[in-house]
Amino acid sequence: MKAVKQNRILKGVLIACAAVILILSVALAVTAVKNKNFRANGDSAAQAYASLSEENASINEARAKEAESYQNQIQEQGAAFSSEKDALNQTIADLNKQISIKHASQAAEKATAPTPSPAPAEQQGSTDLSAKTIYLTFDDGPSARTPEVLQILADNGVKATFFVKNGGKYNHYMQDIVAQGHTIALHTYTHSYSGIYASDEAYLNDLQQISDLVYNETGVRTKIMRFPGGSSNTVSKKYNQGVMTRMTQKVTEMGYLYYDWNLSSGDAAGGTVPASTIINNCRKVPRNNTVIVLMHDAGDKQTTVEALPEVIAYYKAAGCSFAAIDENTPPIHQKVAN
Ligand code: ZN
Repeated sequence: MKAVKQNRILKGVLIACAAVILILSVALAVTAVKNKNFRANGDSAAQAYASLSEENASINEARAKEAESYQNQIQEQGAAFSSEKDALNQTIADLNKQISIKHASQAAEKATAPTPSPAPAEQQGSTDLSAKTIYLTFDDGPSARTPEVLQILADNGVKATFFVKNGGKYNHYMQDIVAQGHTIALHTYTHSYSGIYASDEAYLNDLQQISDLVYNETGVRTKIMRFPGGSSNTVSKKYNQGVMTRMTQKVTEMGYLYYDWNLSSGDAAGGTVPASTIINNCRKVPRNNTVIVLMHDAGDKQTTVEALPEVIAYYKAAGCSFAAIDENTPPIHQKVAN
């Protein structure tokens, strides 16, 4: 009897042990699954975080690029306004001069016998378009637009000047520019204001780089150049106080001839400028007999190409001459403002 009772107790204990082991292993299994899920969640959260920060970086980069391109546009527009203002001021000065000469001669006429009519005050230029030489200039190429511009110039028998930058796969058009009798001139290698105007050394390095590129592509070592944004740009102030004052002197000492413009086609204004606006702007000829027209043959300047035949036709009908800039072309300089 005792043995039977003991057996039953043993059985009971064994069953209880088995039950405990079962419960423990179920609990362990549940914990393992939970852990696995937790790790998987952790991994995908880390992945999501990485892709978010990547996205964030590319948004920041895009923003910086956009800001720089706005800056370019604002700068070129500003330069265009200031050159227009200069031209108007000059016209006012010329008119005042003519008025005072007229007054003087009227006074003289009243006081004495008739005198010969005064010499016209035309040293600074005139409104006579047939006395003017038009220097069409194209900045920021070469690009896919360059051969289109070259074709129009060839069709019209007009020579022009190209202030080039590093155009990558389009650089071979530099040879065509030279072969077709146009002037190739230096603009910048990178056209990044923040880079080139970061320091005097950075500017001079960039200038040397574009000089070498043009030399390697064409065999021409040119001394004719144009500052990005023109010599009157103020965007450079943000990066390097006084850089334009120093660099305009420095490049001149180095034997360079820098050219700005006194007529802006306005094709650098934000977005795509209608061809009709470019044509109208090009008709606002300053009094100077040397007229340097700012245009662009960058890849996005289709409307400049569209406008070009009519712009040339207008100058031709007015009796203007055309020429490419050479070392004897009178320098047209805007006012250095940094
Ligand atoms: Zn430019």
